[in-house]
Amino acid sequence: MSKRISFKGKLAEFREFHTPSSGFFFLAKQRLLSEKSLFQQIDIIDTDSFGRILFLDGLVQTTEKDEFFYHEMLVHPAMVSHAKPEAVLLIGGGDGGALKEVLRYPLKSATMVEIDARVIDVCEKYFPWLSSARSDKRVELKIADGSAFIQESDRMFDVILIDSSDPVGPSTVLHQREFFEQLKSHLKPGGIVAGQAGSPLYHLASLREKSLFFQEIFKFSFFYLGPVPTYPGGTWSFFFVSDKINPLEGSKGDIPSGLHYYNVEIHQAAFSLPAFLKKELA
Ligand code: SAM
Repeated sequence: MSKRISFKGKLAEFREFHTPSSGFFFLAKQRLLSEKSLFQQIDIIDTDSFGRILFLDGLVQTTEKDEFFYHEMLVHPAMVSHAKPEAVLLIGGGDGGALKEVLRYPLKSATMVEIDARVIDVCEKYFPWLSSARSDKRVELKIADGSAFIQESDRMFDVILIDSSDPVGPSTVLHQREFFEQLKSHLKPGGIVAGQAGSPLYHLASLREKSLFFQEIFKFSFFYLGPVPTYPGGTWSFFFVSDKINPLEGSKGDIPSGLHYYNVEIHQAAFSLPAFLKKELA
């Protein structure tokens, strides 16, 4: 495989490989940060096309220009489907983008459990428009492994959101059956778990596996799709599982104002899956 970073004149070229022979490239007008935390390699660059970009272990996590596609679709389908989400747990999400969306609702508490304190610190510095939500009085921040937290905690939540990285490294546990069995026992009646499930093109095996164990654990299990221009394949998948709530029955709560992507029509459309995916996940 060729190098992830090379130089074109003064500009560093960052490559993200999606297969051994294809992927994206970004020309950095400035390299803002490059360091290895206890858990992962963190890079932040500034570009003309997407503004600031956060990479973890060489993979794009968020960009200034298209963060709303992902964060709104991760958070709002679940939040709007719950009649009164008061206690929300967010696992992962160190860049702060998902938390920003969660705090648009009149909650009592938002608990965020992120394993890597450095992701939080550097995003606070380089993506302040995403991270400012953390000073909100309703937020409780825990630096811990999400799976260990849920095993040790006796707290119950209305909505649990999983903003994990892909199933490699510290994130692997957040994609496993045992983790979801644990999450279920921390849901209040009518509770919902939602999260990112990867690319329907590149991560199909992982979606299939999740689909099988979701159907065994939860009464309702759905996948939905949304575009994320800077994620592999451009289309991203998310899951929605619950023992009580069917997201297709319409919204229970108001949609917050000021959103850029999510709305009522998008909610309904997102749960319509293309033929190949319906077949694979049946
Ligand atoms: N939207 C992103 C994506 O799919 O590319 C995910 C973004 S978010 C930055 C992912 C976060 O999950 C990272 O900050 C990472 O440190 C955190 N994370 C990974 N494993 C974790 C774990 N076991 N417990 C809690 N947080 C974890």
